[in-house]
Amino acid sequence: MQQSVFSVPEAPHLKIIGFEAGPVATNGYIIADIKSHEAIIIDAPYNSADIFEAILQHYSLYASALWLTHSHWDHTADASILQNKGLEVFCHHDDIYRLIDPMEHTLWPLPFTIYPVSPVEKLIENEILHCGEWGFNVIHTPGHTEGSVCFISEKYNCAIVGDTLFADSIGRTDLPGGNTNQLIHSIKSKLLVLSPETVIFPGHGEISTIGHEQRYNQCIQ
Ligand SMILES: [Zn+2]
Ligand SMILES: [Zn+2]
Repeated sequence: MQQSVFSVPEAPHLKIIGFEAGPVATNGYIIADIKSHEAIIIDAPYNSADIFEAILQHYSLYASALWLTHSHWDHTADASILQNKGLEVFCHHDDIYRLIDPMEHTLWPLPFTIYPVSPVEKLIENEILHCGEWGFNVIHTPGHTEGSVCFISEKYNCAIVGDTLFADSIGRTDLPGGNTNQLIHSIKSKLLVLSPETVIFPGHGEISTIGHEQRYNQCIQ
């Protein structure tokens, strides 16, 4: 399994470990404070639970929660498995309905079952969530889905952006709950205003920076 390990330059014990899993190559991430052994899982692609477990073991980390960038099945397929292992699951209110009834919202028929997640803790806009020394601001960025959120560490210039913004692209808006004007507004008003050095960690594909997307992303010019 190929993993990418990003270490914060000024605080190398803070890491974001990412990998692709599932039938549509969805990125799962672990944000970690190696010193305090605390970790948070972000998004739960299909067949990711064992990979998360192996990474946590490798770095001697303990994960207390799963934060979801949004509730499309490719980001939540293993959420119930992680919940059964004791992780608290967090999602924005406006996206919780897909977690309650996942097979009704799979977009197309799937050859496997996704189980409901309950209870779900609500992610509130502008609240600060912690992972060891690290604080992440929850930013509501509707457009790809109603309740899409990004997790932003302005102090360490990191942003986990789900399917809102990609390297040289943006999220789809042709799926139920999508809205193109809203998506562009979210990206311009809440992400492109971040420092250009901010590294973005998207739900699919490679990492990028806000500065690169400001300059080269044709979808938001
Ligand atoms: Zn999505
Ligand atoms: Zn996705």
